[in-house]
Amino acid sequence: MLRLTDLKLPLDHGEAALTAAILKRLHIEAAALTGYSIARRGYDARKRGAITLIYALDVDTPREAELLQRFADDPHVQPTPNTDYHFVAKAPSRPEHRPLVVGFGPCGLFAGLILAQMGFRPIILDRGKEVRERTKDTWDLWRKRNLHPESNVQFGEGGAGTFSDGKLHSQIRDPLHHGRKVLTEFVKAGAPEEILYVSKPHIGTFRLVTMVENMRATIESLGGEIRFSQRVDDLLLEPCADGQQQIRGVTLASGEQIRADHVVLALGHSARDTFEMLHARGVYLEAKPFSIGFRIEHPQSVIDRARFGPQAGHPALGAADYKLVHHGKDGRSVYSFCMCPGGTVVAAASEPGRVVTNGMSQYSRNERNANAAVVVGIDPSDFAPYDSTSGEGGGSPLAGIALQRALESHAYVLGGENYSAPAQLVGDFLAGRASREFGDVQPSYKPGVVLGSLDSALPDYAIAAIREALPAFERQIRGYAMHDAILTGVETRTSSPVRIKRDDSLQSLNTRGLYPAGEGAGYAGGILSAAVDGIKIAEAVALSITAS
Ligand code: FAD
Repeated sequence: MLRLTDLKLPLDHGEAALTAAILKRLHIEAAALTGYSIARRGYDARKRGAITLIYALDVDTPREAELLQRFADDPHVQPTPNTDYHFVAKAPSRPEHRPLVVGFGPCGLFAGLILAQMGFRPIILDRGKEVRERTKDTWDLWRKRNLHPESNVQFGEGGAGTFSDGKLHSQIRDPLHHGRKVLTEFVKAGAPEEILYVSKPHIGTFRLVTMVENMRATIESLGGEIRFSQRVDDLLLEPCADGQQQIRGVTLASGEQIRADHVVLALGHSARDTFEMLHARGVYLEAKPFSIGFRIEHPQSVIDRARFGPQAGHPALGAADYKLVHHGKDGRSVYSFCMCPGGTVVAAASEPGRVVTNGMSQYSRNERNANAAVVVGIDPSDFAPYDSTSGEGGGSPLAGIALQRALESHAYVLGGENYSAPAQLVGDFLAGRASREFGDVQPSYKPGVVLGSLDSALPDYAIAAIREALPAFERQIRGYAMHDAILTGVETRTSSPVRIKRDDSLQSLNTRGLYPAGEGAGYAGGILSAAVDGIKIAEAVALSITAS
């Protein structure tokens, strides 16, 4: 097969036009085209009113060798890369050690799946419930204001990405095509096939729930074991002669101990109590930068018009997304994050008495509003004032958590102390006055919002940076700073506030056998990159077990 890239066609082209474009581009006759498949489809919306689809195609032709030679200098005609996944190891027939995976989000799920596929029969533990029970608990907060601290948007089967837009694009370097393995497994589990070729794939919440169940069944059929409502509260550690420590297992909240010499920690960014335990147990952690801000909501039609002009609403384009960055006068960057076209803003708290926002959508992306986080980058020097243990200018690795908690607790108070979230219209936010009534945009956050002023919801520098950024975003997307658009707060869990550092063997810097992984460890951001990290970790664990 040869891969033909950068083939541009108008939005409304038919199948015959695609075939004709291949023949023309390769200068071949119809008989020489045995078949083709779409490897990638994106669009170029830079010229509004003349949006084009851009294809990468895998072309089957008996003239392949000759064509590759003829187009040797053409970067858009190349051999199709081999993206097949190859397992790095195979478990011995009677494996002595069963690896333990803590966390069943995308990272733990893929670590567990790959280990199971290699024959290692992993034991996977998650503090939350299986996904159907978890869905009920999550909706209990959204509908009735009842937060379940162990079963919510952050915790439980499928991890944080389960109630989400299910966006699957990522900018990670992926020379071994692990991302392809993730997408292929998702399709086997029920994701739409198009995620294999559209440039910005998404799945949506509804399908994710079923997919997660199907993947659990696959792991179990391969001898893996998945246990829910099993929170890891402690580590079993042994000191080593070189001053390091060796993991020998974990202790659960129930008091049960599970022995293991290989433990994958795929905790996600919200396992604050577990980060505290790791710190107390001497596992090396450090504070890392993350971002804070608000969710912003506009009518999706405003975003569609601004991005697609007269072609807004075309079925080949779907609901428009956006990605914006503004580099502020004070050196801070403000950017849009986790944009959910045609979606809803969701309550994403996992601790009582705290309010956090995030966004989700269904596969159809047909809700009235577009939402995205608008956030300001912060680093450990910003956390110190919130860190009671840091002293003058000091810095505990957990200081970022202290800042998150302070902001989320204050948002809870601003929202009326019943899980409503504080909100303000963009026009009022820019004018520096409290909001009293909604305009044309109705907020989607459940259980509800309380209008007022968001000025005290974030540190002053963050408020100033967002005030500066919104008019700059308006210059890129007309209507972005519209008076009636709604800001809801606070968005504090953009990524992990800590990094559990690991070495070249992917083990903790000072705790042998412990494999920090995914978003919570600071090595991924988003579903796809967390899943890819899970694969890498499974490979490292498998190689270590087979070498011992
Ligand atoms: P997580 O998914 O957070 O999973 C960690 C798991 O560990 C959890 O299930 C938790 O219960 C478990 N756990 C934690 N502590 C313990 C313990 N002590 N013992 C046992 N188990 C424990 N990303 C995208 O790429 N696209 C999107 O569209 C998108 N939308 C999102 C929408 C929402 C509402 C949220 C909250 C996040 C969204 N994200 C999205 C981010 C994405 O979900 C995360 O990046 C991803 O889930 C991280 O994967 P992970 O496996 O590293 O951690």
